[in-house]
Amino acid sequence: MKSLIVANWKMNPQTLGETKQLFNLVKRGVRNIKKAEIVICPPFVFLSNIQYPISNIKLGAQNVFWEKKGAYTGEVSPIMLKGLGCQYVIVGHSERRRYFEETDEIINKKLKVIIETKMSPILCIGETQKQRDRGETDKILKRQIEKALEDISKLKTQNSKLSIAYEPIWAIGTGNPCDVEEAQKIGLLIRKIVSKIYNQTISKNIRLLYGGSVNSKNAAGYIKEAGLQGLLVGGASLKAKGFIEIVKKVI
Ligand code: PEP
Repeated sequence: MKSLIVANWKMNPQTLGETKQLFNLVKRGVRNIKKAEIVICPPFVFLSNIQYPISNIKLGAQNVFWEKKGAYTGEVSPIMLKGLGCQYVIVGHSERRRYFEETDEIINKKLKVIIETKMSPILCIGETQKQRDRGETDKILKRQIEKALEDISKLKTQNSKLSIAYEPIWAIGTGNPCDVEEAQKIGLLIRKIVSKIYNQTISKNIRLLYGGSVNSKNAAGYIKEAGLQGLLVGGASLKAKGFIEIVKKVI
């Protein structure tokens, strides 16, 4: 299974010029890398300005609306994203849960429409510092996964090439990443939860990603030691050199 390295640019860069520059630098830096699948998720407004297809770089969206069409002011439909060449969509990111009050039910609706539109969801899950301190991590992750996948059949999940990103909220943007042993333990827990919902085969085929203060120094550990299959990179994906280094470290 190829590692999936996802760049979540969030609300960056601020201009089209900077966006093109960042993308072109990344493209040049990873052009000979065949062993990893790289997904760039720029802001919606720049999606159509990014040149694709490039065999080892795929286009991803940071969000999507749960309906395909209709009167939903300000929203972006999955059909629009698919039409622009998006193959992946991040869903359930903690910033969306927190600032936009996205519930597990909303995330479930979004997952369903992403799958129906034949894109691959990257489902983000993770606990807060408080939940971690109270020893609730396992319970929170179980609830987030079960609710997100509610009423989605085995076949649909399998065909969608779903990935699950463990993104502990206390590690995102804090410079305090989860240690490798803990990430490995959580990886096993996620597989167990998915296995119970579906079966072992489906669980084994899902790519598990880690996200939260990933940089070029810690990236390799999550893949080579913790046995995960990818990374979701926020801050460090905004500097081409650092992001290219991360990709090179994990292959
Ligand atoms: C993220 O927001 O998904 C993320 C992982 O951010 P960072 O790498 O900056 O911690």
